[in-house]
Amino acid sequence: MTTETILKSGNGKGSKQAVEQALAALPQPIAAYTPDTSPVRADVNLKDRTLWLCRMPYGGSRMLAAAFCSIGLDTHVTPDEDARTLELGAKYTSGDECYPQRIVLGDYLKLLEDQGLEPRKTAFLLPTANGPCRFGQYVGLLRRVLDELGYHDVEILSFTSADGYAGIGEQAGELIRTAWRAVLVQDILLKLLLMTRPYEVEPGSTDRVYLECLDLMGEIIARQKIPHKERMVALKAGLRRCKEKFSVIPVKKEDRPLIGVVGEIFCRLNTFANNELIRHIEAQGGECWLAGVGEWVWYTNAEAFRRHREEKRRFRKEWLKTFLTARIMHKDEKALLEDFREVFASRPEPHIHELLEYARPYLPQEGAMGEMVLSTGGAIYLYHQGADGIVDISPFTCMNGIVTEAIYPRVSKDHENIPIRVFYFDGTNRDLDRDVGIFLELARTYKRRKKIPGRGKWSAGKISRTPEQEARPGYSPTT
Ligand code: SF4
Repeated sequence: MTTETILKSGNGKGSKQAVEQALAALPQPIAAYTPDTSPVRADVNLKDRTLWLCRMPYGGSRMLAAAFCSIGLDTHVTPDEDARTLELGAKYTSGDECYPQRIVLGDYLKLLEDQGLEPRKTAFLLPTANGPCRFGQYVGLLRRVLDELGYHDVEILSFTSADGYAGIGEQAGELIRTAWRAVLVQDILLKLLLMTRPYEVEPGSTDRVYLECLDLMGEIIARQKIPHKERMVALKAGLRRCKEKFSVIPVKKEDRPLIGVVGEIFCRLNTFANNELIRHIEAQGGECWLAGVGEWVWYTNAEAFRRHREEKRRFRKEWLKTFLTARIMHKDEKALLEDFREVFASRPEPHIHELLEYARPYLPQEGAMGEMVLSTGGAIYLYHQGADGIVDISPFTCMNGIVTEAIYPRVSKDHENIPIRVFYFDGTNRDLDRDVGIFLELARTYKRRKKIPGRGKWSAGKISRTPEQEARPGYSPTT
């Protein structure tokens, strides 16, 4: 605001000097990062360092770590989160930060403070984005805290699609393809886990198989210097083996309410962050259908197409790049899901445009960004797939949860009053079982009266006899 504007708006009252003094007393805006001061460095040296990844979810990070290993980087997933994670996270934050930020910060500091990792041999992965929320601030805060504590030598690998993944160097293309496959493998294994575990006869048998499958698939993803084609053959063979392992887990027949799980990506996928909400739901008689990691990747792709359209860049170089990326992503997705058509026939993942269109009457993609759109569209998609209730997992104070919580009553009213509830998490202990119990009662009541039929459940152990119902809708990047 200029002095003239203030003088005009103030009806000419006050001298020019007084106004200038008042303006000078205002806090000065902090300059945005410049290339020199940015916490995101393009010349990160990962040679002779161990790269650490936080859990989102554990299995997904294991697969992603394997993808980094495939280009020769020694990469590991952070150990189990615990009270110390929260203690360290809270110690170096003010309380204004998001809950996921505290967990990530706490986990990384725990490695340095408690395990005494050598800073010169350590690097942390923390992607960034220019999105509408606080996620873009994570990396700056981590850098600041590390520097304040004297860990200047710790590197942060913080690539973003905006810089062409410069932080990874010349192997970026190879890594991105393998990482996408790792995401797909993670989503497939997690889906198998969630479809089987609630029905297992022997407690713990599904988790055991899941961990074995992570080992098996991690080894294939981590193989170095093999062509993409050869890796795909090995991945498909590995996944078939996983399918067999899950299919022989003894299961019992039970009629459980199907609960769709949407929400903020870190909190819904990191089981520590959400106090193992899914296990609580399973323990009280439900089965969960959780939105995976791939959904977010497809969303960023759809967003890139939207921006190309808005900026009238269709059929130009950038558009072509996005188009080709989508084609390759789709090709890999189709190949890896090919052997799971029957198994996932009752749990088909949505086409990203389907989600965006379902959300449109409430939150149009052009006006709202991020997970609030996906959670709203996802909730409606899951309703159409016969879910008996929707749970939205959100960090406390996260704007996504705040927005969706305001929208859900209307979404529910428009969809047979399907129960939808936001579960907030902030690291404090709470009586989850009571809230889950009440919610499942609502879901059971809805299940008895709903008009949309359920899709049934996959009966583990009877894969060959499950009829093929439908393949996942194909992806057309030009739509
Ligand atoms: S989505 Fe919410 S919790 Fe996640 S980074 Fe953004 S504001 Fe924070």
